[in-house]
Amino acid sequence: MALDDAALQKFGFIPREPKDAINIDPLQTGGILTEEARRALLEWGDGYSVCDFCGGVLDLIKKPPIENFVHSALPEFLNTDVVRVTHGARESKFAVMHSMAKEGDYIVLDKLAHYSSFVAAQRARLNVRTVPHSEAPEYMTYVEGYAIAIEEVIRDTGKAPALAQVTYPDGNYGNLADVKRISDICHSYDVPLMVNGAYSVGKMPVDAKAMGADFIVGSGHKSMASSGPIGVLGVKEDYADIVFGKSPTHPTKEIELLGCSVRGAPIMTMIASFPHVVRRTRNWYNEVADARWFSSRLADLGIVQKGEMPHNHDLMFFEAPVFYEISQTAKKGRYFLYRELKEKNIHGIKSGLTKYFKLSTYQVGRDNLKYVADSFEEIIEKHRIA
Ligand SMILES: *Cc1c(COP(=O)(O)O)cnc(C)c1O
Repeated sequence: MALDDAALQKFGFIPREPKDAINIDPLQTGGILTEEARRALLEWGDGYSVCDFCGGVLDLIKKPPIENFVHSALPEFLNTDVVRVTHGARESKFAVMHSMAKEGDYIVLDKLAHYSSFVAAQRARLNVRTVPHSEAPEYMTYVEGYAIAIEEVIRDTGKAPALAQVTYPDGNYGNLADVKRISDICHSYDVPLMVNGAYSVGKMPVDAKAMGADFIVGSGHKSMASSGPIGVLGVKEDYADIVFGKSPTHPTKEIELLGCSVRGAPIMTMIASFPHVVRRTRNWYNEVADARWFSSRLADLGIVQKGEMPHNHDLMFFEAPVFYEISQTAKKGRYFLYRELKEKNIHGIKSGLTKYFKLSTYQVGRDNLKYVADSFEEIIEKHRIA
């Protein structure tokens, strides 16, 4: 097919739908841009825009204040020693796995780890041992499972795993594991611990040192009100030379970052949103209160939250037999819920899901959450009568 005018017609500016819906998609609630970030996106949108000011090391750019942001503000925010900006949580994890472990080594992951953790380990040619959780209804990762997994690796291979990781919170149930106890266990075997905070860094207070995290990972487009791809990686001083080792041929360039990472608008959106992001983490306990309130409203409708109870995070997993039952006879079948919610201007529960789904209450606000809960109730009533 020739790329003639007719073929090119479908490209060009494409408006985004839905526009002003109430968003409860867990992937999206923490990544909605601030007004400042929206402006930065336009202002710095040209390719390589920040490179005008670069003397060879991106994170040392003084104006705009990238150096201050990366070397001072972010380490303070995460309470870690050395920080770099990456293209996302997965790129941060891969950089750590690839530099800390050698081909064939074992690492330990919680069973609820994100797929990108497994894929990062595969790309680094590592073996994975998983730590189980308690299964239904709470699905809490077993803290002592880390000791068992580490000992199994030692028994089978003669040496300790190169790294352990815990997902904080996990992306399915929004459970917050007891990271301090996990890090104590790992450290008693001299195994460093990586905390995957894709759903926490930028939403809630995260203190890498207090948790005993040797590595802390965040996702800008998921939880730091940034236009991605962008992530953060915090590293304890002891490991900084390993993870941020420099090229023998190009001595200012860090190998795991392929020389430099975020080269334009994404970092300027992260910087633009940062004052808001820091302040919103101080409001975290109100967010948890909103999540609990919403969970109890749904419980009254027979929609039951799984995972940690009472819950400590805005990401929640629900079992909704009532919606499943309706889907058996509804006109649109299992798509009825998505359609009904769309009609009510609510976005974020995956199309086709009824029996199990997850959602996020983050920064939705009590009024809108009340509207969402009332809408669930109306949908149930409507189909009960029909
Ligand atoms: C979303 C998510 C990721 C991936 O984040 P990216 O920044 O897009 O790489 C990794 N881990 C968890 C737990 C996630 O929820």
